[in-house]
Amino acid sequence: SGPKETSLMKIYLANPRGFCAGVDRAIDIVDLTLKKYGAPIYVRHEIVHSRHVVNSLRQKGAVFVEELNEVPDEAIVIFSAHGVAKEVWREANRRGLKVIDATCPLVIKVHNEVNRDYTQGYELILIGHAGHPEVIGTLGQIPDKFHLVSSVDDVERLQVENSVHLSYVTQTTLSVDECRDIVAALNRRFPGIKGPHQEDICYATQNRQNAVKALSKLVDLILVIGSPNSSNSNRLRELGEDCGITSYLIDSWQDINPEWLNGVQAVGITAGASAPEVLVSEVVDFLKRYGPAEVEDLTVIEEDVEFQLPRELVSIEPVGA
Ligand code: SF4
Repeated sequence: SGPKETSLMKIYLANPRGFCAGVDRAIDIVDLTLKKYGAPIYVRHEIVHSRHVVNSLRQKGAVFVEELNEVPDEAIVIFSAHGVAKEVWREANRRGLKVIDATCPLVIKVHNEVNRDYTQGYELILIGHAGHPEVIGTLGQIPDKFHLVSSVDDVERLQVENSVHLSYVTQTTLSVDECRDIVAALNRRFPGIKGPHQEDICYATQNRQNAVKALSKLVDLILVIGSPNSSNSNRLRELGEDCGITSYLIDSWQDINPEWLNGVQAVGITAGASAPEVLVSEVVDFLKRYGPAEVEDLTVIEEDVEFQLPRELVSIEPVGA
């Protein structure tokens, strides 16, 4: 008799997945600042929402704090990719802290929209999730009159003072589909409301969501690699479920419960914008140890976005070069 038949598991890797240009830049900024000024360098909030990234930078001498009162006077502090409220800048200046700003340029773009509309007398609405650091930073661009909505229900309940002079912006890491519904509800309730010329949801969020939609047509399980506080990673997991595929958010291969793999013929893997590729390789290695598997890339679009570093860091040799 022939060898016992074992079924081959198919592993599809979503592409694009993992690091976006804003995360790449933020991590480089911490690395280069450590190289230029030496440890300790303070970082306000997790530079990006990845336990893995934060731990590796901590080992190199980065000190992560939640608020500036934990930073000694005249120290160097880096603001995370999520951006900060204006008050945080003011406090840093008052305290004589040296700031290096790792806010993603696509978040800065939203801040600029907010400041422009506010100056022009608009009453502002932010579509986003309460408590997320990007949302706190965006709301903190203006002193008052900023409404936060997270759902169509919130839009129905919203009380505004100036319904003819209204504008909205969005968080960069929302669900594209959910955001579309919320924008439609805003347009229904407040015809003529002004929105951004181009989506505030960033290219990386959109591409990673499109890749999950493509994955969902081929697999019966989706593993999203990302930390629990990562907004864009949570949206990827929800999207997988919305497409009818059992989906889990995992920080690393160690979170995989082998029972999830029972009867599964094809697994889709993706990673949030703050999850390094090494975590993906480790998940693939784990699945290969579990049984025979074949890996294939599923590419929906090629990304070639890159952001410039702050000027004072560009002259430093790239880390690892
Ligand atoms: Fe910038 Fe988008 Fe990456 Fe956030 S997810 S850091 S907005 S590119």
